[in-house]
Amino acid sequence: MFKRIAKLVLTGALLAAAAGCSAGEKDSEKVQVVATYSIIYDLVKNVGGDKVEVHSLAPIGSNPHEYDPLPEDVLKTTDADAIFYNGLNLEEGNSWFNKLLKTADKDGKDAPVYRVSEGVEAIHLESKGLEKQYDPHAWLNIENGIKYVENIRDALMKEDPENKDYYKKNAEKYMGELKTLHDKTIAELNNIPKEKRVLITSEGAFKYFGEAYNIDTAYVWEINSENQGSPQQVKNLVDYIKKTNVPGLFVETSVDPRSMETVSKETGVPIKGKVFTDSLGKPGKDGDTYKKMMEWNTETIIEGLK
Ligand SMILES: [Zn+2]
Repeated sequence: MFKRIAKLVLTGALLAAAAGCSAGEKDSEKVQVVATYSIIYDLVKNVGGDKVEVHSLAPIGSNPHEYDPLPEDVLKTTDADAIFYNGLNLEEGNSWFNKLLKTADKDGKDAPVYRVSEGVEAIHLESKGLEKQYDPHAWLNIENGIKYVENIRDALMKEDPENKDYYKKNAEKYMGELKTLHDKTIAELNNIPKEKRVLITSEGAFKYFGEAYNIDTAYVWEINSENQGSPQQVKNLVDYIKKTNVPGLFVETSVDPRSMETVSKETGVPIKGKVFTDSLGKPGKDGDTYKKMMEWNTETIIEGLK
């Protein structure tokens, strides 16, 4: 507690936030968890059930590549018993996540900070100058999602050994459901004729998906950053599309659609739907869990490439 107060004196904004956040708000019986974005949030919920209280930093619908933490995020991260992040170059824009860990005093060697993509076979970016960096979107292959769940399970068992069996059981059941969904996705996407099997999106987020489910991918820009959607990037994709027979394009729920709208206008190929990549849908709406967003994507892709 002393450490927390000392930290908060640093800025007035944080002090104001602390005043608005009464101690009663925190349910101290539960393991306090912070996840960097909504997809990890949902995976943790599935494993942690009612033993955990989870806070997502980048909110639903936002872009976790670049995020400005709020005073509330600093407080939750300071108080967290476990912090989960994707890694693989995701939370890197302006180093927002590392800065947050530092501010929250969670950057030490023994801090309970867990990279959920640990053990995943990472794919590199392919754009010139970016080849050494990883593509972060591993969760779009459901088998990798299962790996994330294993890592979350192990971390919760470590941080809260009293409820070990509970986490183990939840994870077991959930991973079974994900495996079923993975197999179903392979079978369903295989029904798309080979020459139409190209998934075109604004950000090149579907590499892991494309490898797992046997579908080619193309994009305006490869990874969300400050200079996405340049005229040259739009032109490259337009030239590519003109050489294909692809019947439809897609936009992401967490990305500005304007570049893809330009591509659609210049090629005459319509935008057929929205897909989920870096964020879940809003609670109660389409794609509001990891499983539902993956199901939604498959259905939308099949419908759009008919
Ligand atoms: Zn992304």
